[in-house]
Amino acid sequence: MYKAFLIKYGEIGVKGKNRYLFEDALVRQIRYALKKTDGEFEVTKENGRIYATAVSDFDFDEAVEALKTVFGIIGICPVVQIEDNGFDDLADTVIKYFDSAYPDKHFSFKVNARRARKNYPMDSMEINMEMGGRLLDAFPELSVDVHNPDVLLQIEIRNKINIYSTEIPGPGGMPVGTAGKAMLLLSGGIDSPVAGYMVAKRGVELEATYFHAPPYTSERAKQKVIDLAKLVAKYSGPITLNVVNFTDIQLAIYEKCPHDELTIIMRRYMMRIAEELGKESGCLGLVTGESIGQVASQTMHSLYCTNEVCTMPVFRPVIGFDKQEIIDLSEKIGTYETSIQPFEDCCTIFVAKHPVTKPNLNIIQRDEHNLDDCIDELFKTAIETTEKIRIE
Ligand code: ATP
Ligand code: MG
Repeated sequence: MYKAFLIKYGEIGVKGKNRYLFEDALVRQIRYALKKTDGEFEVTKENGRIYATAVSDFDFDEAVEALKTVFGIIGICPVVQIEDNGFDDLADTVIKYFDSAYPDKHFSFKVNARRARKNYPMDSMEINMEMGGRLLDAFPELSVDVHNPDVLLQIEIRNKINIYSTEIPGPGGMPVGTAGKAMLLLSGGIDSPVAGYMVAKRGVELEATYFHAPPYTSERAKQKVIDLAKLVAKYSGPITLNVVNFTDIQLAIYEKCPHDELTIIMRRYMMRIAEELGKESGCLGLVTGESIGQVASQTMHSLYCTNEVCTMPVFRPVIGFDKQEIIDLSEKIGTYETSIQPFEDCCTIFVAKHPVTKPNLNIIQRDEHNLDDCIDELFKTAIETTEKIRIE
């Protein structure tokens, strides 16, 4: 029945004279998302509206699923579009539409007509009245409720006429590619993929860095991070994943620094390396999945020490979320099942039994000097040997 979707977008509608940039980005992202489906679509922009029109057979559910991954979309309306061949023709189409969209007719409805084209021979009120009457004649089980209808039938008179009555919620946010790029520290856990999703939702393009510690962490652990990056890329578009070999740095810290400070010092090196890689590729910020108080390395004191090495802004979109709230989001976006696969993490291998929960920055800085004779070389090697994987 449907050959087209009318795409509704929210915030990007109010961006003044830059509006077209946002609309163009949204059109690009919609094309990109629909390309992954079996159908072929033409995506067009018309008078503040975006349409995705099928030019081949397509799978309705698959197309809707794809559109639900496009940030910037607030509503996906499957629409029947017809040429204007007079009111009788329109009424016939609407009756057929109701008949197939709603097999059971025991519900209330309201017609909401709008004319973008004022030369149509009837005004909106007349269309509402007349169409309501024709529907009641055709289906006597229907009833009209102008205040709280079960079904709100939209009829838009434009160059063509749009008929629709359902709006499937989109993810909201801003189209990716309208806000610069950020470097996501992506582990195999639950939190960082959610953090990446949230920043991408605001239009930010993502690059990612994963710290790998072979042979202490396995290829399977790395594969899990690649899988997570693929899941995030469904929303964010392609991601370059930097896989940093972190083993020698971790071993050096383990050998030379007090064990209760291992995690903090290791986190500081992760941030430094991610920032260095981010600078090389034009990122404007770092993103982590940290949440205040979740673990010892995420107390306010620990975050203070970790943050101190960064010159770029660090975005922590789940900072105020409880673990369960993060889990709920990860289930919603589809990363949870992958995140909970049990593979070792480089942080868990060298953790102390009793890590400091209130690290003192002066002491951390002092103890980090134990690494002075080797760290520059190790840092340089880590950057140079970083493997870059393109995730589509
Ligand atoms: P997550 O669920 O995201 O792994 P977590 O609760 O395990 O988080 P930590 O291990 O303290 O918390 O990590 C805090 C943040 O540091 C992560 O959200 C992630 O952004 C980053 N991070 C931790 N380990 C790695 C890693 N091996 N590679 C890349 N980033 C990491
Ligand atoms: Mg983790």
